[in-house]
Amino acid sequence: MRKLVVGNWKMHGGLAVNGALLGALRAAGHAPCPMAVCVPFPYLAQARAALEDSTVAWGAQDVSEHASGAYTGEVSVAMLADFACRYVIVGHSERRALFGDSDERVAAKVKAALAGGLKPILCVGETLDEREQGVTEAVVERQLAAVCRLAGADALAACVIAYEPVWAIGTGRTATPEQAQAVHAFLRGRIAQWCGADRAVATTILYGGSVKPQNAADLFGQADIDGGLIGGASLVAEDFLAIVAAAV
Ligand code: PEP
Repeated sequence: MRKLVVGNWKMHGGLAVNGALLGALRAAGHAPCPMAVCVPFPYLAQARAALEDSTVAWGAQDVSEHASGAYTGEVSVAMLADFACRYVIVGHSERRALFGDSDERVAAKVKAALAGGLKPILCVGETLDEREQGVTEAVVERQLAAVCRLAGADALAACVIAYEPVWAIGTGRTATPEQAQAVHAFLRGRIAQWCGADRAVATTILYGGSVKPQNAADLFGQADIDGGLIGGASLVAEDFLAIVAAAV
C-alpha cells in the first residue's frame, strides 16, 4: 500500500456537523484512493456508525502508551480497538510541542498501537528555526531513529510516516513540492538503510502542512509523496474529496 489520504480533524466538530461531513464522505462512493478520518475520541462511535461497510476508514489522533491504569484523561489502544479504529496518529507536532510528547514516548505509543493491531501514522517534522539552521534532516532522522531504537525496525516499517514541517501546519504556508520531496526521499532512504529496501519501497509516506485542493496534485505528483495528512481542509467534504482525487 502506498497511496493514502487521512483527515486530521484536530479538536473540531460536533454531532451535527460531523454527521453531515461523514455522510458526504460515505456518499462519495468508492474512493479513488484509500482514505481515512482521525476524529476526536468522543466521536469515534459516530464515525464508526457512519462509515462502517464503506471505503472510508477511521481512527484517533493520539493514544496512551500504557495499557490501562491510573492515567486520568488517557485513552488506551484497546479502547480504540473497541471502536474498530484502523489508524492512530502518533507524534503530531501539536502533541510534541504542547503536551510534552518526547521521541521516547512517541516510540512507546507506536509500539503499543502495533501490539494492539492499529496502524500508527508517525508524524515527523522540523520547526522553522530548525529548517533555517539547516538541520531538517537531522531532526527527522532523530525522530525516526527513536522509533527504530526503542520499538525496533519492524515497528518502524509497519508505520505510515507523515512528514509535516511544523512551519507549514495550519499556517497556509506549504512546503514546495521540491522541498517536500527532498525530505520524503531522505526518509525513505533511512527506512531502506534500517529496515531493508523492499520495506522502504512499500512504506507510505504522507505529506502534511496546509494541503489544499489547489496544491495537492503538485505535491502528490512527487515520486516519494504517497498522499497527505490533511488538517483544515479535511473539515470541508468537497475539499477533502478533491484532495483524495488528486492522490490517484
Ligand atoms: C495537520 O494537522 O496534521 C495538518 C497538516 O494541518 P493543516 O492541513 O491544517 O496544515
